[in-house]
Amino acid sequence: MPGTRTDRLRRRSAWWDFLNSTPRDALAQASQSQLFRAIVENSSDLLLVVDDQGRLGYVSPSARAVLGWSVRELADRPLFELLSSVDAAAMRQTLRSASRDPEKACRLEATLRHSAGFWVPVEVTVTVLLHDPHVRGFVVTARDVGERKRLEQALTRQAYCDALTGLPNRVLFQARVEQALRERPTTGTGVALLFCDLDGFKAVNDVQGHAAGDQLLKVVATRLTQCVRARDTVARLGGDEFAVVLPGLGEVQDAVAAAAALRSALAAPFHVDGIELDIEASVGVVMSGDHGDDPTTLLQRVDVAMYVAKRQGLGEAVYDPATDGHNPTKLAMLGDLRRALQRGELLLHYQPEVDVASGEVTSVEALVRWCHPDRGLLMPDTFMPVAEHTGLIGALTRYILGAALAQTRIWSDQGRLLNISVNLSARNLLDERLPEQVAELLAAHGVPPELLTLEVTESAIVTEPLRAQHLLARLSSIGVRISIDDFGAGYTSLGQLRTLPVDELKIDRSFVSTMAHDRSNALIVHSVIDLGHNLKLSIVAEGVEDRPTLDMLASFHCDTAQGYHLSRPLAAEAFDTWYSTRGKRPCRTECGEQAAQTTPVP
Ligand code: C2E
Ligand code: CA
Ligand code: CA
Repeated sequence: MPGTRTDRLRRRSAWWDFLNSTPRDALAQASQSQLFRAIVENSSDLLLVVDDQGRLGYVSPSARAVLGWSVRELADRPLFELLSSVDAAAMRQTLRSASRDPEKACRLEATLRHSAGFWVPVEVTVTVLLHDPHVRGFVVTARDVGERKRLEQALTRQAYCDALTGLPNRVLFQARVEQALRERPTTGTGVALLFCDLDGFKAVNDVQGHAAGDQLLKVVATRLTQCVRARDTVARLGGDEFAVVLPGLGEVQDAVAAAAALRSALAAPFHVDGIELDIEASVGVVMSGDHGDDPTTLLQRVDVAMYVAKRQGLGEAVYDPATDGHNPTKLAMLGDLRRALQRGELLLHYQPEVDVASGEVTSVEALVRWCHPDRGLLMPDTFMPVAEHTGLIGALTRYILGAALAQTRIWSDQGRLLNISVNLSARNLLDERLPEQVAELLAAHGVPPELLTLEVTESAIVTEPLRAQHLLARLSSIGVRISIDDFGAGYTSLGQLRTLPVDELKIDRSFVSTMAHDRSNALIVHSVIDLGHNLKLSIVAEGVEDRPTLDMLASFHCDTAQGYHLSRPLAAEAFDTWYSTRGKRPCRTECGEQAAQTTPVP
């Protein structure tokens, strides 16, 4: 095909004439031509006619607005000069296939070079009019989609990035883990995952305020990002939790080294609002191959490893099956439970404890429930064992204590001076920070310590008696009351209790609920009450399910009764209704615990 400039000019003359002149013979044709020209010349899209060599013929005036070039500057230049080499190849391919099949709509996305040097993303449509005598070329329409792209990118950022730090969020992290596992070579290297949870971040939020907390998280994000390789992904999973996926690592020791590097990146003090803050981190480590091959298993196990690191104050911990007594279902629940805590899905129900002699409601026991989004109201036996197995019990107990004390404060502001009983788990008795946290929570809610009773079971005490004794002594010295829960179900003798700072005994409901019909249980209950009184302990009988039992307890001079006969555990609002309608009178009707009555704790 001839390629001289004269040839090209001759070939394009037909459509050029068509666009640039008004046919003389018909007025209608003239006005139609003017209409087309007006449309073309005022279109915001860029309209180009390209000859079969890819050279620009007609260029619409919008070239100035879209690409910064004048019509004159572009006319007769190869279209491909405006495209990157990749896009130029794609455009050549598109023109070739368009000329083979002119009926087929040809579209492609490309970027065109602006006169100022940057690239303009465009959506290109190619129509073949090579055989149209008025055109003899390809009509290329290019629409600037920069704005749309920016919007798409903003939406993508929103869906996949954490708004505060700009790091990938949980969704993108999960995708990166999946991708890294998919693309890992079958031998040689593996993928490591690190879970990093800041220690002491909550205190910063509470004391310095959320703005300072946010600022700290941003600096943490920057430091973490700076200490990993370009191919690694650092993500913020929420709160003070960060995670890293490291593809192409040789062995687990490399992952441990990366975890240590993360921790030392956080070792230098942080300066937030002119205050120097020290933050440490606990990091869990897993390695594909060694600890699992699918994302779900690895993510669950790195979570467990992180909690081991946190609980044992190890700094970093590699997943160890010996410290993980969970089956996969329980592990999934652990993750759910941690999110539930953040989302406020845990509620407290309150069960009254009544003075047997006067009928007065003296106390309430706070009992935790999980208002699960799919499974409805869950009782503590379905989820507490899972929490108790990990460090999560610490956060959970703090949450429960805070919520119970907040409710106590509301009641006391309303003139109801009710003692609140909160259950502790065995693991709580190993947490040296507990007495300090209890004191802080009491102060934060303005509740006098003598209004709080902490219930511990015998089995919790015998796990590590000396540590438990020491911790209970510290708790008692704050002024809170200590109660031995489920008394009689374990092996503690009343004599052993003399070494503990105990104020109250709760007789296990297995004895109480049967005592009206079972003489030996009635005898046990009676003697526990008498011996307990000799030790100056207050006695609570739990599991009082009927009137005869309550009457019998009154005859044994039991101090306090708790059980379904008086009331089931109730949500705060339902408790208020029960309390105000009942007052000090003995309650002869049962109150039912219903899921519908749940309200979030304040
Ligand atoms: P617990 O401390 O012995 O709590 C009393 C349990 O007995 C409650 O069950 C209560 O609903 C039930 N109960 C009360 N009166 C009667 C009665 O008359 N008859 C019968 N059959 N049962 C009665 P719940 O709420 O399911 O709690 C079960 C256990 O879960 C508690 O036993 C406690 O060990 C644990 N738990 C509950 N809330 C918490 C919490 O906030 N923290 C900790 N660490 N453990 C908790
Ligand atoms: Ca209890
Ligand atoms: Ca109990």
